[in-house]
Amino acid sequence: MVTTPVLPLEAASPAHICPFDQACSYLEAAGKELKLDQGSLEILSHPRKVVTVSIPVKLDNGEVRVLAGHRVQHSDILGPYKGGIRYHPAVTLREVSALAMLMTWKCALLGIPYGGAKGGIAIDPQLYSVGELERITRRYTSELIKDIGPSVDIPAPDMGTSAREMAWMMDTYSVNVGHAVPGVVTGKPLSVGGSLGREMATGRGVMIIVREALADQGKSLAGMRIVIQGFGNVGGAAAELLYKAGAKIIAVSTATGGVYYPTGLDIPALKTYAAVNRKSVVGFPQAAPISNADLLTLPCDVLIPAALENQITEENVNQVQAQMIAEAANGPITLEANQILEARGVTVLPDILANAGGVVVSYLEWVQGLSYLFWNEQRVNHEMEQLMVQAYHQVIQQSKLRQVNLRLAAYTLGVGRVAQALSDRGLYP
Ligand code: GLU
Repeated sequence: MVTTPVLPLEAASPAHICPFDQACSYLEAAGKELKLDQGSLEILSHPRKVVTVSIPVKLDNGEVRVLAGHRVQHSDILGPYKGGIRYHPAVTLREVSALAMLMTWKCALLGIPYGGAKGGIAIDPQLYSVGELERITRRYTSELIKDIGPSVDIPAPDMGTSAREMAWMMDTYSVNVGHAVPGVVTGKPLSVGGSLGREMATGRGVMIIVREALADQGKSLAGMRIVIQGFGNVGGAAAELLYKAGAKIIAVSTATGGVYYPTGLDIPALKTYAAVNRKSVVGFPQAAPISNADLLTLPCDVLIPAALENQITEENVNQVQAQMIAEAANGPITLEANQILEARGVTVLPDILANAGGVVVSYLEWVQGLSYLFWNEQRVNHEMEQLMVQAYHQVIQQSKLRQVNLRLAAYTLGVGRVAQALSDRGLYP
């Protein structure tokens, strides 16, 4: 048994909904399959560094509020820590710790020279003004100044953050160290060294993995009925690219609710609608309203949860009708639900593979920045596609070789590479 690390500040949630315990269970399963020694498993199940900082912020009305900002650095065995910064009311230290661990396996699986990290602040960014968000982001960055850096830990956007926050982080870090350091974050605006193709990258990666998986079943994207939970950075981009490839996006949702149109939504029109409706798709003309819960159980060919964790659970898994699920979100399926889906023969494309397009293009952005060379979008997309397709085939091959599901195959590859590096580097002192 791997000892579940006791993280400070919060009590453990019940095991079946605690993302950190779930992440440890997947690690444990991979360790068993790889016959990893107990010591390596112990090391890999603990984050190397957990940082929680207080962020005092003066609101526009003059009131002062103190927020908690987390950054969990799970592993830097393969390279600098890497991972997004999440602004969402459901952020907890345990969630951030789980997501940091997933980043370690994701980067290792994709063969990019990074470790894993994640950061977050438990706020609903919609409830703050731009000025307040800027002050929060700058103070958070300033508090983390000694813990981040282009060869130390490289943040990126995640749920609730975007290129705008990355520009503030880059500026705050640069002003503090006295010179411009574009490599301290990825997912930046193009004007400060961002990469073409980064904004759509996670969605593009999802499209590529679904396309490859369908091709293995002798199918193509054209005409496939696809349901997407989430219409933000990831779900929105995936919807657009899948729509362009000829798939029928029959339902999408945002936090406030969804829309359903069985013969296929007009995604460009829906994007325009959401842009002027505070990012919500609710009320889109012609389509029927649908709740987030009902959306997950619609009859469809491919289901793409692209929002929060723990969306498909023991409670609703038996109503899920899709034969293929691509985890565009991190951890959208609980451990128990995953087992039930596996027994039913549903193809589950695991998060650390399906949503890796974002961090792959983050890597390409970092490489371009460090070499002072910038590529056109075609080149960025091509390099990303190569890495995604290669990882997909490695996962399929591993699944066949070890006779395990795709998640365990992906985990054994990711965990195996980190464990090998750990063994080669040895334990200090
Ligand atoms: N937040 C994204 C993820 O979960 C991207 C991380 C990055 O680009 O570093 O993979």
